[in-house]
Amino acid sequence: MFRLAKGVTHFYKTPGDEQRGIGETMCSYDIGAENIKPVHTVRFVTRLMSISTMTVYMEENEEPLTDEELFKVDLTIRTALAFISRNRLQVIAEELAFYDDMGYRNIRSFFKFIAWYNKPGDLNGMAAVNYNLRHFALVNEEFGRACGDIVMKNHYRHIETIIGKSGTVARLGGDTFVCVCKQTDLPELLEYLNEAVVPADTNGRTVSISSYAGVFRIPDGYTVDNENDIMGKIIQSYQIAKAGVQGNIVFYSDMMLSEKDRARKIQKMLPEALKNGEFHVFYQPKVNILTGEIAGAEALCRWFSNGQIIPPIEFIPVLEETSDICKLDFHILDQVCGHIRKWLDEGKDPGRISVNLSRRHMTDPNLADNIIEIVDRHHVPHRYIEIELTETTTDVEFKDLRRAVENLQEHGICTSVDDFGMGYSSLNLIRVVPWNVLKVDRIFVPEDDEAKDSVRSVMFSSIIAMAKDIGLECVVEGVETKAQFQMLREIGCEQVQGYLFDKPLPLDEFEKRLDMGRYDIP
Ligand code: C2E
Ligand code: MG
Ligand code: MG
Repeated sequence: MFRLAKGVTHFYKTPGDEQRGIGETMCSYDIGAENIKPVHTVRFVTRLMSISTMTVYMEENEEPLTDEELFKVDLTIRTALAFISRNRLQVIAEELAFYDDMGYRNIRSFFKFIAWYNKPGDLNGMAAVNYNLRHFALVNEEFGRACGDIVMKNHYRHIETIIGKSGTVARLGGDTFVCVCKQTDLPELLEYLNEAVVPADTNGRTVSISSYAGVFRIPDGYTVDNENDIMGKIIQSYQIAKAGVQGNIVFYSDMMLSEKDRARKIQKMLPEALKNGEFHVFYQPKVNILTGEIAGAEALCRWFSNGQIIPPIEFIPVLEETSDICKLDFHILDQVCGHIRKWLDEGKDPGRISVNLSRRHMTDPNLADNIIEIVDRHHVPHRYIEIELTETTTDVEFKDLRRAVENLQEHGICTSVDDFGMGYSSLNLIRVVPWNVLKVDRIFVPEDDEAKDSVRSVMFSSIIAMAKDIGLECVVEGVETKAQFQMLREIGCEQVQGYLFDKPLPLDEFEKRLDMGRYDIP
């Protein structure tokens, strides 16, 4: 070969890698000579900015190449490099197509896997799972992003080892994953998803991770007409898992279809219902525990549809699946402001009226402006409005929540954390976000005959004491009996709301209470 001693090819994915010398090296030809020097190099840059170079060497004492020889060497190298580059490009293209930038397999790889098994029965004995690592934002917050990345990777790797080569796992984005595995691997997989202790570094630090998961056991003979079909089923059952009423892991069953149809129907009915004024505000008074005075009320939504009243539990979760809930919330706020203006004009003081806002609003950077626009349009002084936000949905990052609460407070609008105690990590939420009011959920209110040293009684007193300590107003929800009322008074709680005084009232009934001004306290 024209007296050449050696030929070496380098392959770099990026110009940066080339500069740093990080790439693949292939020796395509070597006679094993010692004193060699490079005589010719060709560098080839592809359209994806990957780079291949080939250098040929000759022994020091060898007679130099003639021009004609050099021309031939150059031509041969170029031809070889063109092939090598194309081959390498394919590898890169595959990585780009089927892996994300953190090195996780992506949704395309999941669909490719499923598309491969397209004949009836190919997927016999398999299952598909959609899962989300719960509270992962907290892991990042507490341990730092870099450590969070390690935890997520370790979790993913462990899933890979559980499902082995017969399955696949891919990341949909954020902390949400999908996976296909053998049904025989399912018990181990679900146990791991339910609760996993995951290494966070090499010093033995660990993080406990649990997940919400939706599972579809693929029935024998199942044919994949469309990959989205499996995806739809696991997402649907995952969403039920996430809603938290049926446990962290929910299996898909055909029963869900009717649920899904019902949800679609409600979502479809919404625009007309809003236009026709089918949503009414009911008011549940908040009562000052010492004086019995009406300190304000909570605005609660009721849907009047074909002569029936639909309670919020029937439609709020459905509307929360999309951002439809935001339209409804603003619609309710708008009605509330109209009512407050009317009461003020009539010389009635309604106190502070709280309006529930879904956590779905948190990603809206203009949330505070949109609220202020509605309140100001009705010329309602800001001190009459309070915004209730729940802590039960977990996906909202604290920083969004904190920003929303701070923006509202800058405009003199109070915020309360609703259903305190129902969600997770409540104490952290209280610490990080500067609320005005704590609304303690009724599950924390002790029963009449409950001993003072029961866990619930002790927790309840501590919550009230803590709220006072950090300067939060405290409203206890769901007070139903005189005994509860007395107990709350002894503990030093300030405001109560519950059936003991009134259920949520339609507008005219509530106005009668405003005229009355106060309740007789037991
Ligand atoms: P929430 O904000 O915690 O509202 C309190 C719920 O407790 C109300 O149920 C109320 O009727 C009920 N309640 C009050 N006192 C008692 C009591 O003494 N005993 C018992 N057993 N229950 C009591 P409701 O009106 O069915 O509302 C349920 C949830 O729906 C609300 O919980 C709130 O999260 C949501 N919601 C209601 N209206 C809206 C709205 O306009 N927008 C949004 N985003 N959510 C709303
Ligand atoms: Mg509420
Ligand atoms: Mg509540």
